[in-house]
Order: sequence, then structure tokens, then C-alpha cells
Amino acid sequence: MGFATDAIHAGQHPDPSTGAIITPIYQTSTYVQEALGKHKGYEYARTQNPTRSAVEANIAALERGRGALAFASGMAAISAVLTFVKQGDRVVVTEDLYGGTYRLFQRLLTRFGIRFTYVDSSRIEAVEKTMGDDVKLVFLETPTNPVLRITDLRAVSELAHRFGARVVVDNTFMSPFFQRPLELGADLVVHSTTKYLNGHSDSVGGMVVASRQEDIEHLAFVQNAVGAILSPFDSWLLLRGTKTLALRMERHNQNAVALAEFLSKHPKVQKLYYPGLPDHPGHQLAKKQMSGFGGMISFETGSLQAARKILEGVTVFSLAESLGGVESLISHPATMTHASIPVEDRLRFGVTEGLVRLSVGVEDLEDLEADLRQALAEI
Ligand SMILES: *Cc1c(COP(=O)(O)O)cnc(C)c1O
Repeated sequence: MGFATDAIHAGQHPDPSTGAIITPIYQTSTYVQEALGKHKGYEYARTQNPTRSAVEANIAALERGRGALAFASGMAAISAVLTFVKQGDRVVVTEDLYGGTYRLFQRLLTRFGIRFTYVDSSRIEAVEKTMGDDVKLVFLETPTNPVLRITDLRAVSELAHRFGARVVVDNTFMSPFFQRPLELGADLVVHSTTKYLNGHSDSVGGMVVASRQEDIEHLAFVQNAVGAILSPFDSWLLLRGTKTLALRMERHNQNAVALAEFLSKHPKVQKLYYPGLPDHPGHQLAKKQMSGFGGMISFETGSLQAARKILEGVTVFSLAESLGGVESLISHPATMTHASIPVEDRLRFGVTEGLVRLSVGVEDLEDLEADLRQALAEI
């Protein structure tokens, strides 16, 4: 089936008791057993819930994975993936990654004797230099947040597999509509479903998709043992969200391409980061491994003062953390999403005080462009 068809139908069947076309919210903690040891496959709701199973099957299909497990947040999903490593193992990580992931790795997991090496994974030679037999996991983000560097997923997967390491890709920014890492050789995909997959800024969740049965079994064990599960209601919201994923992603992309072109020509914009523009260093690779460029744009305004004028001057864009919802958001990575990354590191990636990040929504393009135009005029 095609992507849009799968998005609407995969993992969903009319409800067996009523024929309801929409999978119900099974708001229950337990299931009655007919006799001792005789049940319908459901025993206790931490372990299994039909609403959650439906959304897991849906997203597994969209990522072309063998199975998926839903968690209470993107961070809970990432924590589950990190249980593939143990004390003494090393993880190679894209250096300019989501601030919360960096915080989890550096401030929590290093306590358990797991070591992390950060590298500019858009440079395959740099990744090669950091590899070794102690590396058990390669954790990638592409495009990165917020400067949108692109990593060659096929090349890094081949390299990592030569060392026997698993490859995990945080695919939150692209969604499976534009990028499917498992098809390019990765072993696992993680999502903050809070963003594009749910798409309506009304739920927090996470998902891990795996290509191998043994990995799914391990993740299901972790999901049950740790218990950071996605609730039935959030599972239902997410199922509702993915039905329109194809439509939304097309519009996010269309609006972002047009706004990136507008901003790149604007005299007050000093530097623009968007993989859809031909002068972006990852543009050719992005065209090869992604089928669109997504809705995230960052740009340099030159100073905190200039950034503040825009952040506070817009009226259609809302000043807020997060991304991937239908409404357009604007944020200041240095003080918001990336505040937990050491200053000298974030400056090296380009996360300056003058950097502004946009999550371009699906509103009318004319309104978004007019809003940015009037805010930029204030600088
Ligand atoms: C938001 C985000 C996360 C964390 O997800 P939560 O749902 O907020 O826990 C991880 N990775 C990326 C790329 C994100 O944008």
C-alpha cells in the first residue's frame, strides 16, 4: 500500500464488539479472564493495551519496520533504546543533537559507566575515526537541530555494522513521510511523537521502531519492565494524528520551502539554514535520502537584540518550544531548547544568541510571510 493509505488504515480494524471504524480508547487497567490461564491475549494494561497496539502497528508500517513500541515521551523512547548498551560500552553520537538527549546521556547515563563520543556525523571520515570495538550503538539525528546538518545514513550504517554496532536514528524532524532510516540500513528509529506524528500540539509521546524481531522483544520487555508507557488516550490522539500525516507534511514542506527562499533574500537575514536550498552543504545528500525537506528553518539575525525583536514582533508565529504542530512556532535555541548544552559547544555548531528557529505550520503562506516581513522590518 502507499504511504497515505497505510497512514489511515495500517494497524486498524473495525472494533470487534461494535464495528466502530475508529479504534476505541480502551481506558482499562485490567482484563477479565474466562478461566484460569484463559484470556484474549490481554492480561494487564501496562503490558498490553489495544489502543496502544493499534498505534504501534500503524507507525511500524509507516517506518517500514517489523514492529514498534510506544512510550510516554520521546525521552522515554530514547531511554529504552539506550538499554541496548551496558557498563563499559561506548555510544557514538551526532554532536549537535536535541538538548534533552544530550542531558540524558551526559548527566544521567554516564553515571552507569556508559561512555559517549560526540562527532560531526555529517563527516563520514570523522565518524570512522571515532569507531572501535567498544562502540555498541551509533545514535544519529539528521537533519540536526537546529542547524540542520545532514548525515549519510547509508554510509554510517555500513560503517557501524562493520564494527557490530546498532544504528539508531532520531527521525522526529522528518517523520517517515520524508525519510525512512530503516530502508537506508539503520536498525532502530526513535520519535518524539509529540511533534509531527501527533501533529496537533496536544499530546506528549515517543515511539521506537525496530527492523529485527529480537530487538522488538527486548524493547517490549523494557516497556513492560520500566513501565513508561503511552496512555490509551494519547495513543488514540496519535492514531488520529497519523491519518493526516501525508497531507500535513506536504504542506509544512511547501510553506517552508517558500519561506526559506523569502528569508534567504532578506537583507536582515545573515545566514539561513534549510536543507532545501541549493547552497546548504547537505542539499545533494538531502535530495538523495529524503523525499522532502521538512518544516524546520533556522536563521542568523546577528545579535540577541535582533533575535528578540523578531521573537517578540511576530503575531501569527507563537513564541514557544516544540515543533511539528499545525501552528507555526518560533523559538530561540540558545536560551530555550539548547540551554543545557555548554556554550562553547553550541557556538561551534552555530547556535548563537542571534539564531532563531522556525517550525513552519500549515497556515496560509501569505500570512506567514507577511508576519515575518513585518517583524524583520523592526530590526
Ligand atoms: C522533542 C524532541 C525529543 C524529546 O521528545 P519529548 O517527547 O519531548 O520527550 C527528542 N528528539 C527530538 C529531535 C525532539 O525534537
